[in-house]
Formats: sequence, structure tokens, C-alpha cells
Amino acid sequence: MAQNQEATVVFGVLNETSATESRVALTPDIVTRLKRSGISSIIESGAGIAAEYTDEDYEKAGAKVASRNEVMAEADALGFVDRPSSEIVASLKAGQWVIGMLGSFTDADYIAALEQAGLVGIGIEKLPRKLSSAQSMDEMTSQNSVMGYKAAIAAADAYGSFLPMMTTAAGTIRPAKALVLGAGIAGLQAIGTLRRLGAVVTAYDVRPASKGEVESLGAKFLDLGLDFSAGQGEGGYARALTAEEQAAQQAAVDEKAAGFDIIITTAKVPGRKPPVLLTAAGVKGLHRGAVIVDCAASDLGGNVEGSVIGEQVTEGGVKLIGAPYLASGVATTASNLLARNVADILVHFVRDGKLGQDLSEELDDALVVAGRVATQPDAVEPNQAGN
Ligand code: NAD
Repeated sequence: MAQNQEATVVFGVLNETSATESRVALTPDIVTRLKRSGISSIIESGAGIAAEYTDEDYEKAGAKVASRNEVMAEADALGFVDRPSSEIVASLKAGQWVIGMLGSFTDADYIAALEQAGLVGIGIEKLPRKLSSAQSMDEMTSQNSVMGYKAAIAAADAYGSFLPMMTTAAGTIRPAKALVLGAGIAGLQAIGTLRRLGAVVTAYDVRPASKGEVESLGAKFLDLGLDFSAGQGEGGYARALTAEEQAAQQAAVDEKAAGFDIIITTAKVPGRKPPVLLTAAGVKGLHRGAVIVDCAASDLGGNVEGSVIGEQVTEGGVKLIGAPYLASGVATTASNLLARNVADILVHFVRDGKLGQDLSEELDDALVVAGRVATQPDAVEPNQAGN
């Protein structure tokens, strides 16, 4: 394509293979945006369709639509929603860049496999989020906010009654009482959405600073009667609680949870296993028909004992939904935001039409989790990397 001829770096995106994934790491408007930075795009045919972006949309924006093998062969850098499988890693060429949430905090073996394949891994999970120049690259923020919104919708959908108070000729229905545990990006979005749906919302977070944010959204802050004022970790994030603190928190949450119809959990500690906030005993204490959405459900466990990733389990009439993939259910917008995050990271590493730059900044040092980024002026020549 004429407008691509001058571009020197090729960005490639594959069809995400997981059954739970509808998002795509490149959207047509981002193809145009990348072109302005001298980056051309190649995308696997059909990769955007689950997010409602057709091959024609990509072509119109100036991307090349190609087969999976062509994308893997031609791209200098590849962007992913879910980190590439070991089969994909094995099919890539040494020197190619892999950009995505690579799980470097919790899976050293995976990062070692990238290293061994000679790939350069850019792990978005390592983004220094407080850095103002990195805000537009923050996939955690963009996707968690979509997830929080969708968690409220999923809870409303599974709940057998109304969320708002309703006065009808046949009687008055009380509003649903919702509890949000973990009031960060996802939690605050869940609170706002639950409130807009008419629920009466209470929320809790271990960070003292979150109380004001919860209240500013018109929700009540849950007082557990425990003081975790030393609960602030590095950079404004939560720290992991000690075993003793965690046990005290679980007992208090289990007791308070019984009064709620809907519970949404979003509590995480960067780089750690999510804390269990609600135990099996706490789940048992809820009334039949209550709904729990555990957004922190993961291979390492979630915030609620017994939650299973991607499944709804019913315990004594309580519906427990393990839902880490909720952002995929808002695939069109979630992809658009995510594609912008990934593209801005790529653009950051492109200088003079080549991949790689002087690794002296905080951002660069943090993001490169595997391999070595060539420093200017000897940056990796596109399509010759490792060949
Ligand atoms: P996160 O996804 O790591 O965690 C979600 C929430 O769970 C957090 O609010 C955390 O405090 C809470 N949590 C952890 N352990 C808990 C426990 N045992 N009990 C109850 N709650 C627990 O965090 P996040 O949503 O990405 O953001 C956390 C904070 O960082 C927020 O204040 C957010 O505004 C801030 N942030 C700032 C920037 C920025 O400055 N650019 C960017 C992103 C996030």
C-alpha cells in the first residue's frame, strides 16, 4: 500500500486464540495513528471480527490483512491482548518484539522462554503507572475500568430482582444492597455503574485514601473496625497484608457480607496472588439468590474462596461468578482503548524509524522484561532482527 511504503517498522497482530477473548490489540483508528509515526500494520484476517472490526475496515485504514504465518514472518513487533502461547513463541523469530501483559511478576519460566527464543519482551504489567508520560499506555487502567463497569452489568443480569427501588401497584420493591470490595480503578467504576442502576452501594478498600473516593461517588465506606492505616504500599498501591491481618479482615468481611444482595470483588496487590477477602464460610452466610462477581479470579486464586475462572458456581443458592474476562465482553471499546495503550508503548520505542532506543529512562528500563533493546545508533534493523 502506497502510504505504507515509507514506513520502516511493521507492527503485527494475530487473532487471539483463547475461547474467552473477543478483544484485539489493533483497531482501525490506531492503524492510522501508527502510520503517522512511520509504523505500518499487518493484521491476521478475521482478527478484529469478534470486536466488530472487519478486514475491510483495517484495509481502509491502511493495514495489510494477511495470513497468520505472514503476520508472524513480516512483523518487527507483535501486540497481544493475552500473552502469546508457547506455540506462537516457538513460531516467532529471534529479535522480534512481543508487547502485552506478559505476567513477568508471577511467571519467571515464561519470561525465560521468551529469552531463550531470543525475543524482546515488553511487559505492560511493569508500566510505572504514576509516570505522567505513561498514562496513555496504561492497559491496566483502561481494561480494569471496562471490567468494573461490566461486573456491575453481569451482577445485575444474574440477580433475580431489580436493582432500583420500585413502587408498583403490586407493592414496593426495595433497592438491591451491593458491596464492592477493592475500590481501585475497577471498583470505582463498578460503584458508579451500580449506583446508576439504582442499587444502594457500600464499598471497602484497604487503602485509607480510597474512603474519600468511595464517598465522592455516593457510596458508603464499609467500616470493618480494623485499622490498616499502614496498608499503603509503594506508590499508593495496597501492600499484601500479613497472615494475621488477612485472617482478621476475612472474619470481618464474612460477617458483614451477609447483609448484601450483590458483592463485586476487585482487590489486587501488584505482582502478588490476589488476597482472599471472602471465605467459603462467608459465601455460605449469604442469602439464596445473592450474586458474587469475583473479578480477581485467576490461576493463582481469587478474592472469593471457591470462585472458578469463567464459570458460575452456585453454593446454597448463592451465584458465584469467576469473571476476570469481563472486559472481553465490551470488546469493541475495550479493544480500542487497549490498542491505543499498546500502540503508544510501541511508538515510545521507535526512533528514526527503527525499533530500540537509549535505555536510560525509567519507563524503558521497567518495560523490557526479556531480551535486550538495542540502543541507538545501532538499533535493530526491522525484519533483519536475529536473522
Ligand atoms: P489494583 O488493581 O492493584 O487493586 C485494586 C484495589 O484492590 C486497590 O484499590 C487496592 O487497594 C485494593 N486491595 C488490595 N488488597 C486489598 C485488601 N486486602 N482488601 C481490600 N482491598 C484491597 O489497583 P488499581 O485499581 O490499579 O489502582 C490502585 C490505586 O492506584 C488507585 O488509587 C488508583 O487511582 C491508583 N492509580 C494511579 C495511577 C496514576 O497515578 N497514573 C494509575 C493507575 C492507578
